[in-house]
Amino acid sequence: MTSPTRIVIVGAGPGGLMCARVLQGYGIDVAVYDADASVDARDPGGTLDLHADSGQIAIEDAGLTDECNALARPEGQAKGRLDHRGNLLAAFVPDEDDCAAPEIDRGQLRAMLVAHVKSGTVRWGHRLIAATALGDGTYCLRFANGVTVEADLVIGADGAWSRVRPLVSDAVPYYTGISFLDVRFDDVDNRHPRIVKLVGDGHMFANGDGRAIIGQRNSNGYVRGYVAMRADADWYDKAGVDIDDPDAVRQYLLTEFGTWADELLPFVTDTDGGYINRAIYALPTPLTWEHAPGVTLLGDAAHVMAPFGGFGVNLAMLDGAELARAIAGEATIDAAITRYEATMLPRSGEHAVGANAALDRFFAPGDADPTHIPDHQAEHQRYKDAGADYRRRQAIPTLTEGTTMAADGTWTIRFNTRRGEQQAELVFSTAGNVLTGTFDGSAIDDGQVDGNDVSFKAELTSPFKMNIKCTASIDGDTTTGKAKALMMSVAFTGTRKAA
Ligand SMILES: Cc1cc2nc3c(=O)[nH]c(=O)nc-3n(C[C@H](O)[C@H](O)[C@H](O)COP(=O)(O)OP(=O)(O)OC[C@H]3O[C@@H](n4cnc5c(N)ncnc54)[C@H](O)[C@@H]3O)c2cc1C
Repeated sequence: MTSPTRIVIVGAGPGGLMCARVLQGYGIDVAVYDADASVDARDPGGTLDLHADSGQIAIEDAGLTDECNALARPEGQAKGRLDHRGNLLAAFVPDEDDCAAPEIDRGQLRAMLVAHVKSGTVRWGHRLIAATALGDGTYCLRFANGVTVEADLVIGADGAWSRVRPLVSDAVPYYTGISFLDVRFDDVDNRHPRIVKLVGDGHMFANGDGRAIIGQRNSNGYVRGYVAMRADADWYDKAGVDIDDPDAVRQYLLTEFGTWADELLPFVTDTDGGYINRAIYALPTPLTWEHAPGVTLLGDAAHVMAPFGGFGVNLAMLDGAELARAIAGEATIDAAITRYEATMLPRSGEHAVGANAALDRFFAPGDADPTHIPDHQAEHQRYKDAGADYRRRQAIPTLTEGTTMAADGTWTIRFNTRRGEQQAELVFSTAGNVLTGTFDGSAIDDGQVDGNDVSFKAELTSPFKMNIKCTASIDGDTTTGKAKALMMSVAFTGTRKAA
C-alpha cells in the first residue's frame, strides 16, 4: 500500500491490537477505538492456549515471541478428563519441551499487546454506535461519546456483537443452547486444596448429563473455571433466580448438578466471586460475504464460534497479522482485503463448524463418551506440523521480474538491552547466495543467504567494540533474528524501510 490511507480498527481485543501492532511494524498509521474505559476496566476472563500454527505465528510476526514466552505457561497444557461421577477417563501431561499450545492469561496477553502499539494508538472509551458508508468509498463511524470519525478502511475487530459487521453481512449470532457461568478461586495453593487436586498445573474437564465443569489454572495462584449446562438463554429468569445473588445461583446449580460426584462440586460451592453468566453465541457457519470496498472484519466479529478447541483468540490474532501483512504488501486496500478474506473466510468456516459440533457433543445427554476425548499428543503434533508448514509456505519467495530479493533493502532492527530498546540500521544487497551490505554504516562480513534466511558477521563499535554473528529470517517486510557475541545472545526484530 503506498498512498496515505486513514485506517481505523474498531475493537482493542487480541485481534484488533495484533493488527495494529503488525501494521505499525510496517510503518503504517492506524487508530484503534474501543468501548472499554481502559485496558483493565473489566475482568479480562481466564487463560487461553496459543497454538503453534496460528496464535504463535501472529506473535512472531509482531516480534513479541520473547515477551510472550516470559508470560506463557507450557506446564498449563496438562489436561485431565473426568465423567460426572468423578471417574478419570484420560490424562495428558505435556513433554518438558512441548510448546505447541502454552497457556497465557488473557489479561496479560491484552496488556502486552497494548504496551507494544504506539502510545495513543488506542482511543479508549469509544463505543461505536453505527458505521455508515458515505458513498464515495469512505465510511463514517459514530461513537456513543459524540465523536465521529471518517475512514478509508474500517476493520471490524469489535467481537461477537460487531457494529461494523452490518456493512458486509446481515448475519447475527445465534444462541447455541449452552450457558457457561464463570467461577474464580483465589490463592488456590493455600485456600482451595480440593480445586488444586482436580486442576493441577493445567485443566480439568468433566462432563455428562448435558452439563460440564471446567477448571483452568491461571498465573499468580488463580484458578478460573466454568460451570456450564444446556439451558435456555434466560434460564435464570425462567427459574426465578436472581443472577446477581450468588447464594440463589449456588442453590440452583446444586440442584442442576444433583447427579454429580461430590468431589467435583467445590467448583459450584467454593467460588470466591459470584457467578458471571456467559451464554454462548455463534455466527452461522460457514459465513462468507461479498467483498465490500474499504471494510472487513477479523476475529469474533467475522467468525464467533463455540469456545471448543480454543480457536477464537488464535484465529483473531492470525487474522490481524495476515490482514496487516496484506495491507503492507498489496498496492491497494481492496487488493489487500480480497487477499486476506480469500484465506480467512474458508479457514474460519472450517474451524467454526468443528468447534460448534464439539460443543454440542460435549453437552450431549447421558454419560461422557470417552471416544470423543481429543488425543492431545496428536493434536500438539498437528499444531507443530501445521505451524512449520505455514512458515515454509511464507518463506518461499515469489519473485517475478523486477521485484527485489527477499533480503534486499534498508532495515531498521530493534533489540532490548539493559538500557532499553536500541535500534540499528542494516543495508542488505544479495547476489545469488552472497549477502553484502552494512550494519550501522560498517561493512558486514561473511554474508550468506539461504532462501529467506540470512547470516553475517559484523564489528560493532558502539556502545563498545564487539564482534557479533547474526542470523535472521525474512518474512515479507519483517525480520526476526539473533545477534550472538562471545558471552551473550540478543534477539531482534526488524522492518524494511519503504523504498
Ligand atoms: C466462555 C468463553 C471461553 C473462551 N475460551 C477461549 C479459549 O480458551 N481460547 C480461545 O482461543 N478463545 C476462547 N474464547 C473465545 C475468545 O474469547 C474470542 O474468540 C476472542 O476474544 C476474540 O478476539 P477478538 O479480538 O476478535 O474479540 P474480543 O476479544 O471480543 O475483543 C473485541 C473488542 O472490541 C471491543 N468492542 C466491542 N464492541 C464495541 C463497540 N461497539 N465499539 C467499540 N469497541 C467495541 C471490546 O471492548 C473488545 O475489547 C472463549 C470465549 C468464551 C465466551
